[in-house]
Amino acid sequence: MSVLVIEDDPGIATQLVRGLERAGYAADSVVTGAEALRRVPPDVVLLDLGLPDIDGIDVCRQLRRASNAAIIVVTARGEEPDRVLALDEGADDYLVKPFGLAELLARIRAVLRRGHRVGCEVLRHGPLMIDLRTRKVTVNDTDVALTPKEFAILECLASDPGRLVSRQEIVERAWDEHWYGPTKVLDVHMAALRKKLGVPTLIETIYGHGFRLADA
Ligand code: CA
Repeated sequence: MSVLVIEDDPGIATQLVRGLERAGYAADSVVTGAEALRRVPPDVVLLDLGLPDIDGIDVCRQLRRASNAAIIVVTARGEEPDRVLALDEGADDYLVKPFGLAELLARIRAVLRRGHRVGCEVLRHGPLMIDLRTRKVTVNDTDVALTPKEFAILECLASDPGRLVSRQEIVERAWDEHWYGPTKVLDVHMAALRKKLGVPTLIETIYGHGFRLADA
């Protein structure tokens, strides 16, 4: 998981990058909004709203348009309107300075857990298109009607195509966060989902482990 810190205070930036690296993230920092927008979008962006070049809100808006990165904005105390504006412009969460590393890491885990981002409404993978807002699914531009469970399973796989998702994780995400029962229940829904999608190779089974959305 990669995190890009956009922060013009070198002391804060260095500290954050070190802390994130210690926590296992691939972290990097840039000083300006322009630099941030030139980067390959990371998984998570930590965006200081007070930047020397471009207004932080504009950076947020442009990042959201261009990428699926989770955006956590950082503001100084008392900048309430900016924070609200940032959330309206597609930020996923915000932190108020000063904040501790533990809190930052918790926020990052939370936005990543939420899976799909507020601004990321359409997932595409090969012939598959999933509109998260309208919950519409098409395969090769043909509508596919899914049950809520089937949709949840597909969303879970499509939120990170290519990643092997364990049976347990799918069940936890598609059924209930605290499901401790057998995962056999998944097979019935998975079979129905595959049949409806009509492309047998789209969902790959890794026996004994889980499933993944196959490379298109
Ligand atoms: Ca600043």
